[in-house]
Amino acid sequence: MSIPLTVSALDSIRRKGYEAIPLYQAGAGQCALDLSDNTNLWGTPPSALRAIGEFAGDSAARYPAAYSPALAELLADYAGVRPDMVVTGCGSDDVIDAALRAFSAEGGKVCLPSPSFSMIPVFARANGMEPVAIPLTGDLDLDVEAMLAERARITYICSPNNPTGGSMSPAAVRTIADRATGLLIIDEAYFEFAGESHTALLESNRPILITRTMSKAFGLAGLRLGYGLGSPDLVREVAKARGPYKVSAVADAAARAVLAGDRDWVAARCEEAIVNRGRFADALAERGIRSLESRANFVLLPVDDAVAQAAELAKGGVSVRAFPGLPLIGDALRITIGPWAMMERCIALLTTSR
Ligand SMILES: *Cc1c(COP(=O)(O)O)cnc(C)c1O
Repeated sequence: MSIPLTVSALDSIRRKGYEAIPLYQAGAGQCALDLSDNTNLWGTPPSALRAIGEFAGDSAARYPAAYSPALAELLADYAGVRPDMVVTGCGSDDVIDAALRAFSAEGGKVCLPSPSFSMIPVFARANGMEPVAIPLTGDLDLDVEAMLAERARITYICSPNNPTGGSMSPAAVRTIADRATGLLIIDEAYFEFAGESHTALLESNRPILITRTMSKAFGLAGLRLGYGLGSPDLVREVAKARGPYKVSAVADAAARAVLAGDRDWVAARCEEAIVNRGRFADALAERGIRSLESRANFVLLPVDDAVAQAAELAKGGVSVRAFPGLPLIGDALRITIGPWAMMERCIALLTTSR
């Protein structure tokens, strides 16, 4: 009879550093109204739904194109770069993970601001690297000199930043882009809600990868599609580390349909999110509830006890993301912006749950 693998047996064969990697715990997310994950609360673009419905049954029996060139062409047009400057992936998580793998060195540093995207330390450790978190400055901007002083192999920044919501100042981003020692990743998961991008930096000769996603503004989170923009040499290295067939045929078809025929739908929903973001912050301020200025499709509210207040909201049928003990901010709730009726419901609960 074979003896099942025990945890202690894994301990001896597991790569060093893996014990520090937690399994991802999805947020509450269980309530009828889910404002926890910054996805598009207006739903999926109609063109994507049509493409999924029309997806021919026998197409599923064959592999998709290894690197979705038709999709890369449409993304290049959307981003205003050449098609050979695009790499796609199974969500932008996949693109970031592949970039770390492509440029990693055992024990090398991945420098990131704090607080920022919670997956970066996980991807750093999973690729044998050491995350080094540098606190944002008091006004929640990048601490440029402290980050550069790390001389990291990979530097990650996120603008607008998750979970604080604000944009990093263009001067700070430019200085880091000019002087970072290794690869610079600029995460633009929320750029559509800020109306500004860093693609102009790609014209420099610096090793810069801009990552973006179709999970937020584009309403395709369930299909898992992200992309990276950079010089042809650089995205080629990321594509090698990523491996082929990471974008499923159905995701490819749906994303192409939106990029070809529904950009106006996406732009209109973003516009509405931006308006509701301001209205939501104003409504909270009128009730004495402070929120941080946001350029994304979510706002962050400093609170006394994030876990308790999120549980209180969940009882009222609304999921939000609790962040206990954020550096510089303390406890906070991150709330996704959606159609106004959703925000009204959230405002009512926030007012009574304090
Ligand atoms: C949501 C998010 C992503 C990406 O998600 P994918 O669904 O993997 O594309 C990347 N970065 C940040 C900061 C995010 O908030």
